[in-house]
Amino acid sequence: MPDHSNQAQYDVIVLGGGAAGLMCAIQAGKRGRRVLVLEGSNRIGKKILMSGGGRCNFTNLDVQPENFLSANPHFCKSALARYTQWDFIALVERHGIAWHEKELGQLFCDESSKQIVAMLQAECDAAKVRIETRAGVGEVQALEPGFSVDTARGSVTAGALVVATGGLSIPKMGASGLGYDLARQFGHTIKPTRAGLVPFTFDDDELKKYADLSGLALPAATEAGGHRFDSGLLFTHRGISGPSVLQHSSYWQPGAAVAVDLLPGQDAAGWLLARRDARPDAQLNTVLAEVLPKRLANRLCELGAGSRPLKQFSEAQLLAVANQLRAWAFRPNGTEGYRTAEVTLGGVNVDEVSSSSFESRRLPGLYFIGEVLDVTGHLGGYNFQWAWACGHAAGQVV
Ligand SMILES: Cc1cc2nc3c(=O)[nH]c(=O)nc-3n(C[C@H](O)[C@H](O)[C@H](O)COP(=O)(O)OP(=O)(O)OC[C@H]3O[C@@H](n4cnc5c(N)ncnc54)[C@H](O)[C@@H]3O)c2cc1C
Repeated sequence: MPDHSNQAQYDVIVLGGGAAGLMCAIQAGKRGRRVLVLEGSNRIGKKILMSGGGRCNFTNLDVQPENFLSANPHFCKSALARYTQWDFIALVERHGIAWHEKELGQLFCDESSKQIVAMLQAECDAAKVRIETRAGVGEVQALEPGFSVDTARGSVTAGALVVATGGLSIPKMGASGLGYDLARQFGHTIKPTRAGLVPFTFDDDELKKYADLSGLALPAATEAGGHRFDSGLLFTHRGISGPSVLQHSSYWQPGAAVAVDLLPGQDAAGWLLARRDARPDAQLNTVLAEVLPKRLANRLCELGAGSRPLKQFSEAQLLAVANQLRAWAFRPNGTEGYRTAEVTLGGVNVDEVSSSSFESRRLPGLYFIGEVLDVTGHLGGYNFQWAWACGHAAGQVV
């Protein structure tokens, strides 16, 4: 047993000062619990600060369980129902933070994501939550009862331990595997982790086809996991990205092609046949450039049907072109990985955690919340809403 003389005593230690950990700490602190947040990096809420291009897409107007991936799709329902987007919007408004809907229900700060972090800090202060940054978390032990955590400033003990250390994405922002290590230490299993909401990369052959289109963006759609994502594609110097593609990546299995609808919402076949009647002498690439960026229209013709006057295409040939436009297949050789991923798929097996309290079913007093769990949201504010919701739920009972 470690020597516990000179130790501060807390009711709750929260590991990780991110979205979920801070929300949990605030709720527990409001209930009079003595709460210590141990944050490994030099400041709290780093991912909040960098999110949404600096404006934090903090929730979504339309949050459904279907917006989340997990081996157990029912797990997220209880917490999401008990702390909704409207609850978080009310909190944001109480702090006078102006917000707007960008598109598809995605809510952003008008000014800066710094406001969300300042709001969480103010709530922590009001709830008398103690926060230690650069905490240097070391060994964690289960006591009888409670837990001890070794830190850079000595060992601390508490009755309950909340693991809110997030996922593996963006290691230089402080991400670590501590949460998974602790889960294993206390008898939990981990669903395999991988990068999600992440750009795809191409091998040299595929890059030769598209690398010079880098920077080109277009409205394009993909379908994955029974969802249609129609918020756009971006060519990068390594492969493809853009909102539709990022969403697709969370469902992608290595080796699979990514079929992209380059003309979403359009009857490509009907349109091409009508253009052949209207402009029989126009080249295919010229006509495609009416609806696609010119460089892409040229490239698709080079790689596909070639370019010649439309009158030289039979109906069957034009239908084949239309089919290609509806499902143009890109062949990623991988993703950019945790370096740029917004989220980590997989994580602590949710069947071993209570969906109402987030307490471990293996060890009483141990809690897991946020991205460290095997629950991953779609792009669009869902991951923060999950962090707020489960942080709130655990904070009510811990
Ligand atoms: C670039 C980027 C942009 C994003 N934009 C959005 C967005 O606009 N909307 C949205 O909904 N989601 C967004 N996300 C996803 C969102 O940030 C996460 O899903 C969310 O932050 C998860 O909350 P969390 O509290 O579980 O984990 P985190 O917010 O990652 O917090 C975990 C905390 O634990 C700390 N920690 C890790 N290891 C240790 C350790 N060993 N010791 C002590 N502390 C440790 C970390 O430093 C971090 O502060 C974005 C992610 C990225 C990377």
